[in-house]
Amino acid sequence: MKLINFNWQQLILGLGCLLLMIACKSFYPTTNSDVKPLKVGTDPTFVPFEIQTASGNLEGFDIDLMNALAQPTAGLSFAVQFESLPFDGMISTLQAKRVDAAISGITITAERLKTIAFSRPYFKAGLAIAVRKDNQNIKDFKSLQGKKIAVQIGSTGADFAKTIPNAKISTFNSGPEFFQDLLNGNVDAVVSDAFATLYAIKNGKLKGIKVVADLLTQEYYGIATPKNSPYLDAINKGIATLLSNGTYKQIYQKWFNAEPPQLPDSWP
Ligand code: GLN
Repeated sequence: MKLINFNWQQLILGLGCLLLMIACKSFYPTTNSDVKPLKVGTDPTFVPFEIQTASGNLEGFDIDLMNALAQPTAGLSFAVQFESLPFDGMISTLQAKRVDAAISGITITAERLKTIAFSRPYFKAGLAIAVRKDNQNIKDFKSLQGKKIAVQIGSTGADFAKTIPNAKISTFNSGPEFFQDLLNGNVDAVVSDAFATLYAIKNGKLKGIKVVADLLTQEYYGIATPKNSPYLDAINKGIATLLSNGTYKQIYQKWFNAEPPQLPDSWP
């Protein structure tokens, strides 16, 4: 009696397939798609750093930079998966390690460094005052005293506004909202990141608004990660590579049509 219906032909075919699979796996090196992608939080309302196109795609300076970092030429070996988050929740999401990193024009500040980590600076920025074009009175910090000012919740602009004596501050979730309030005449000024505001004005999105020439602060943006992130070292090395191999300059010129300024190696 035959107990097992043993089929030699099937066994040899099976073993052959298995050997072929092993051979293929060792022949082709591990690709990005085999590695868990780096989850990167971003708030796509901060032009031109992060923009959501009509078709739902992300583009912008930060997006190009992060994608360039993920290229093998920058020394990183992971794919990037962006996740849209409100700016105000970015720090707590990083703290809870629900994302591996965040790039969103985030200013490196001593306060934020208490709870999260930052890469080396990748962008020189600063706050500026925006007013309606016909406003001749607001020109500097002093002239903001006692004025109605709009800011974005959780931003460095909001922190700065708190230091203005007697200012009446309204907070908003994103840039487009507070500029609308300024245009409507509900507030006298907006305190926000100069580059983002200047870009929006230049591209015709904020007709009727001007930026006061002098910057209120000097700030640097960094890529944020949870504290003790295993990725931070690679991100820092990658930024250094992009700065030295011309990729950073190319991305800067694409979005700002200007030569990038010198960046410090570390900040503050
Ligand atoms: N740079 C500002 C900050 O870090 C604002 C950034 C933003 O709105 N995305 O607070």
